[in-house]
Amino acid sequence: MTNNPKSGFFEAVLDGMPHHIAIVNQLGRIEWVNSEWRQFAAFNDARHGEAIPGTDDIGICTRAGASSDEVGLRVREGFDRVSRGESSEFSLEYPWPTRGGKDARWFLMKIRPLMDHAEGRLLVLHEDITDRKRAEIALEKLAVTDPLTGLANRRRLETALDAEINRAQRSREPLSLVMVDIDFFKRYNDTYGHPAGDACLERIGPALKEVAKRPNDIASRYGGEEFAILWPQTNQEDARKLAEELLVDIRDLKIAHEHNPPRNVITVSIGLATMIPNRDTTNRDLITLADEALYKAKAAGKDQLVIAEIHARTS
Ligand code: GH3
Ligand code: MG
Ligand code: MG
Repeated sequence: MTNNPKSGFFEAVLDGMPHHIAIVNQLGRIEWVNSEWRQFAAFNDARHGEAIPGTDDIGICTRAGASSDEVGLRVREGFDRVSRGESSEFSLEYPWPTRGGKDARWFLMKIRPLMDHAEGRLLVLHEDITDRKRAEIALEKLAVTDPLTGLANRRRLETALDAEINRAQRSREPLSLVMVDIDFFKRYNDTYGHPAGDACLERIGPALKEVAKRPNDIASRYGGEEFAILWPQTNQEDARKLAEELLVDIRDLKIAHEHNPPRNVITVSIGLATMIPNRDTTNRDLITLADEALYKAKAAGKDQLVIAEIHARTS
């Protein structure tokens, strides 16, 4: 790299680092890589020469590693910004899919100017952050999942509802929400015990998932023995059909409940609200409407669907 008599020493230090390190000139051409970078390139089947000093440029090296052209483009832009002195560091976390498309690995790339008389050379640091990223993703998932049923939790439902209301405000499309509550569940617990109550909630989970199949549908445990399903881009008629299907599916589970006449199996009551939100609509509005309809379903004898009338509020 230089004629400095100590360069062998410093190269050995850089070879001992766990990061993949490259020195790149201002044209983006790799001038030097440490041994981790070489091993990494070999491991990933990079064409021989792609990570070899003098033959590679930053575009090729990122394409060799990037999961998509978009990542390559962002690296190129970051490289240019640091190179022109417009920013002091470029940093990007990106996934790198493995051959089977499963178990993506994650990397952190940083590009910094080399702080010496190095004629515009840049330092590229590349690090495998897969373990941390997997832990983060698992934690994020846990934070929005109900542990008993595996359904989304209330937080996830409300976040998704906010996003979908926003989208529907722009697209002027309807969205639908149902609140679903188990009938006489207190009696069920009193009769069969709390653990049996939990088992019942677990069995109901898949029935909710069954009617929330589209990618943006969300079936959630809203709290206790109450569930909510969000059906974006769904009009009242389609939502009504899905809700009726859910009523029947839960009856058909035939979970014995001797104090829920006349069927004496677990049943639910459902309140449905469908609206095209206006610019003032909040998630509270839709939840309240569905809740009011649910209350009416309970008052009318349970085990049924009631649809909220919302003409005045959707204009
Ligand atoms: P309604 O038909 O009007 O909905 O009556 P209900 O008895 O279902 O409603 P209520 O609100 O009186 O009681 C709800 C019961 O749900 C009481 C509570 O112990 C039970 N419950 C709430 N969360 C859980 C849970 O996680 N596990 C179990 N086993 N029971 C729960
Ligand atoms: Mg109940
Ligand atoms: Mg309840």
